[in-house]
Amino acid sequence: RAKAHGRGRYCYFEPGMDVLPQERRRLELDLRTALAANQFELYYQPIVDIERDLVCGFEALIRWHSPQRGLVPPADFIPLAEEIGLIVDIGAWVLHSACREAAAWPEHIKVAVNVSVAQFRGFGLVDTVRSALAASGLAPTRLEIEITESIMINDSAHTCAVLHQLKALGLSISMDDFGTGYSSLGYLRSFPFDKIKIDRSFIEGLGEAADCNAIVQAVMGICDSLGIIATAEGVENQEQIAQLKSRNCHQAQGYLYSKPRPSSEVNCIIDRIDLQVRH
Ligand code: C2E
Ligand code: MG
Ligand code: MG
Ligand code: MG
Repeated sequence: RAKAHGRGRYCYFEPGMDVLPQERRRLELDLRTALAANQFELYYQPIVDIERDLVCGFEALIRWHSPQRGLVPPADFIPLAEEIGLIVDIGAWVLHSACREAAAWPEHIKVAVNVSVAQFRGFGLVDTVRSALAASGLAPTRLEIEITESIMINDSAHTCAVLHQLKALGLSISMDDFGTGYSSLGYLRSFPFDKIKIDRSFIEGLGEAADCNAIVQAVMGICDSLGIIATAEGVENQEQIAQLKSRNCHQAQGYLYSKPRPSSEVNCIIDRIDLQVRH
């Protein structure tokens, strides 16, 4: 290692030279074969109704079992999939799989699916969602689509048209990672979101940091007056739940209840949490 370092200037494999583009190419090639090779899996994280103390849904979160890399988290491949357009096919797989798996859950349990900005180009997403619902038999009212604020930046007329078509199918639309992206609240007037998910960065300091308390308070005010459900993301302790309950937040999600887990564990998670939060 010392030798390589000493000759760093002449080294072919110095980061920032050939290694990164090469590694990126390899990742891209592997990613392009992953869907056909059945290497993706959906994990599910429970969403808890903290007014009624019941599990009310699960968020589907994609994982990639790469033979070369092991279990790859979405942050390490979703941005590349978006860049090379592969997110459209991966996203269709996610929608079909999530709807099919959720159709087997108890009827009061919903499923939330993340959808990227790149999936909103054209009108293909509406057809994909329609066919995922039809093929699975899942009631549209049990499906929630999660989008981030970045979607509101460009081409908002087209985005709004697609959002309205999705809503017309009977599902609901959530604003994910609220407060971290687009610095305008005007879009809350142009589209009736059903749910706002307050980003983990604001939940982290709840009860301790005055700024987090104030921001969560303000978001709850917006949700209350616009009739939007508020979900707190990244809840890790009971103190945060106490703070959220005192502010009449509706739902919570985070490691406190469960990390994302394979679909085979969904029923056990429901039973465990429904028992646990009553005590
Ligand atoms: P997200 O939609 O905001 O999902 C929440 C992320 O926070 C998940 O990370 C989850 O594991 C993590 N998380 C949940 N509770 C806690 C907690 O208490 N503490 C901490 N530290 N983290 C918590 P994950 O699964 O790695 O997903 C990251 C992001 O990747 C997601 O953020 C979403 O934007 C994206 N993503 C995941 N699955 C898909 C998908 O199927 N399609 C698309 N387009 N994006 C996806
Ligand atoms: Mg999400
Ligand atoms: Mg989120
Ligand atoms: Mg987040």
